[in-house]
Parts: sequence; structure tokens; C-alpha cells
Amino acid sequence: MRNGKQIRKPGIPVAPKKVKDVRLVAQLTRLIFGVKGYFCDVVGILENFGTGHFAEYKFEIIADNDPILKDKWAVTIPHEKTIRIKESVYNNACEKDAQSRFTIAHELGHLFLHHKFDEAFAREKTYGNIETWRDSEWQADTYAAELLMPKGLVDALSIEEVCEKCGVSYSAAETRLRKLNTTSWQ
Ligand SMILES: [Zn+2]
Repeated sequence: MRNGKQIRKPGIPVAPKKVKDVRLVAQLTRLIFGVKGYFCDVVGILENFGTGHFAEYKFEIIADNDPILKDKWAVTIPHEKTIRIKESVYNNACEKDAQSRFTIAHELGHLFLHHKFDEAFAREKTYGNIETWRDSEWQADTYAAELLMPKGLVDALSIEEVCEKCGVSYSAAETRLRKLNTTSWQ
């Protein structure tokens, strides 16, 4: 995820997934990591990496001035099962900062949706318009919303309640409730 405003730029084409497919992966994540109730501790999920069932997964905290992340908050390398996060983003997420929590949830999406691509190759190529279902960034944002604000838990809440209970920003909660109230949104 890049710095700047939360307007999604098209990602790279990956295997197509529908909302219900992404939702299932988010539900499984909650189940496997024992997340109960509204608040999903995304930092706690990262800290399970390297243990038990997740021996192969790891995350790395990168100093803010380290050029390895350049202008990004975080990056995921799926084939290495690794998430790299800027130190300030990690620290802010520990303090329950909504934007930083969403960033980590988004990166978990890239990891658990098993996007398999060569990132260096991806960055240098222009793909033009991609169908939404095949867009890696749409899929990761959808996963983050499903993980942090599960359908069935948040449907009947107000925007303010979703913010407070789920630890998300106003705009994330507003977008989520609007989509859940759109009949075409599965
Ligand atoms: Zn992304």
C-alpha cells in the first residue's frame, strides 16, 4: 500500500475472485487466529507468524528511513510469505490507529489470497485497465474490509459504532456499510 490518499490505484492482474471468495478467506483467517467479536487484532495475527501452523510466514519491521520501502507503507512478497512494514505504521497499529490497521489488514490480504507474482516485474509493467475481480488491490482492500468489519456483525451498526467497535476509520466504515446495503454487493 502506498502513501497518500486512500484512493485505490489499479493493481496487477491476479486470479479472479468474487466478494464471497474473499469473504471466505477473511472468515477463515478469523477462525484460524481465534479472532472473536468485533475487534480484529491484526498486529496479533502478525505476531503469530513463525509459530505453530504459520512457521513459514514472517513479517519484518523496516525503519522509516530505509529505502527498501521507498514511498510505501508496507509491501507483501507472497512467494516469500513475508510482509514488510514501516516501523511507524507498525507502532501506530499497536496503538490502534485505524489507517495503520487497515494497511496491515490489506497486506494480510495479499498474503492469504495467495497472489503469486513477481513484484519487480509487476512494478515495471503497465497493465492498463483490469477487471475488478482480477485486480490485486481491489482484492486486498476487499479482504481488509471483510476481516475488520465482517458482514453479519456490522450490518445493523451505525458508522460511528463500526469505527469504535472495529477500530476502522470513518471513511472505511462508511464505505463498508454503503456496500453492504447495495443489493448487487454480495
Ligand atoms: Zn496492495
